[in-house]
Amino acid sequence: MGPFITEELERLESAGLRRTLKAIDGPQGVRVIVDGRACLQFCSNDYLALANHPLLKEAAIKATERYGAGAGASRLVSGNMAPHRELEERISAFKSTEAALLFNSGYNANLGVITAIAGRGTEIFSDRLNHASIVDACVLSRARLTRYPNRDAQALEGLLGRSAAKQKIIVTDGVFSMDGTIAPLKELSVLAERFGATLIIDDAHATGVLGRRGRGTLEHFGMEARTDIIQMGTLGKALGSFGAFIAGSRELIDLLVSKARPFIFTTALPPAVCAASSKALEIIDGQPELVKKLRDNSLLLRSRLAGAGLAPTDGDTPIIPIPVGGAEKAVALSGRLLEAGVFIQAIRPPTVPEGTSRLRATISSAHTKEDITQAVAAIREAFDEIG
Ligand code: PMP
Repeated sequence: MGPFITEELERLESAGLRRTLKAIDGPQGVRVIVDGRACLQFCSNDYLALANHPLLKEAAIKATERYGAGAGASRLVSGNMAPHRELEERISAFKSTEAALLFNSGYNANLGVITAIAGRGTEIFSDRLNHASIVDACVLSRARLTRYPNRDAQALEGLLGRSAAKQKIIVTDGVFSMDGTIAPLKELSVLAERFGATLIIDDAHATGVLGRRGRGTLEHFGMEARTDIIQMGTLGKALGSFGAFIAGSRELIDLLVSKARPFIFTTALPPAVCAASSKALEIIDGQPELVKKLRDNSLLLRSRLAGAGLAPTDGDTPIIPIPVGGAEKAVALSGRLLEAGVFIQAIRPPTVPEGTSRLRATISSAHTKEDITQAVAAIREAFDEIG
């Protein structure tokens, strides 16, 4: 065991793939302390700057005072407290679905829903760039996994046509987490209907982001009435808190309560976390201008990066990949930027395909024009220096 660990670490190191943790001090926000250095942050998923919002903190403190620190058991044993139920009601209203079920993270939500509804007779059609948790869920479900080229509905059509599986599932990220592109949901839903497939959308980066009111990919495409589409969403990104959910029909949620192992066999979320998430949904409901500000900022950063010759302009999501190529170069650029006081992480394989390492810049509704100007100048300089 010992030599294996050492050798594996050395292999990762020499391939530029060893990962290390950076220490963040103080709360999350546009300005953070990274390894002791004050920085402008451009890599968080706290898109609406809610993670350190006074109202979320107040809600969490009040819930802690009223309900204590922990849930003490799984939901099915004795951990099903009022904050969980209230949050689920809010989520199903937000997503216009009959019901919703909380999971302790997006990773668990994907694992839970896919393993609950797929099995040996199922073929799952999964976008090649889907999140790792979807890939892991497919493997764990024992279904046949067929990956289709990113956002390629035509290729998917061919694959579905050739499938003899009794049950078919199409699963896609709504906003692709490392590319910032949007899934062609209309085309996918047409294919799902035609081939009798269940469609699952992972709205981790679309909830609170896409659509005029931040409802997600369905709102973006004017498809909110499509209650047959299973929606996953996270509470730890734009909603500033932690956890995740599946939203869909009452029957689906009933099935998950009985079958989704990451729901059944885990302690329920702490009440404070649920209360903070509920407050975040209330804020987004009351302030759709936050979602608009995020979109305006996304467009501004995209156009400034394109103007500096750093990234393509198309799209309006807050995830903006700056292409680099090699893993080591991406890490060097990220390190140089940190020295210049701009925090942007390098993204490398296996998170992205070999040779497509990148700086993944993200933006929040709270960044100012000056922040954006400063960051773009620093990125341009880093590329000029490192080549
Ligand atoms: N799906 C996607 C597309 C994601 O980007 C992430 C988070 N990186 C997840 C699922 C997992 O969500 P969580 O962080 O809540 O586990």
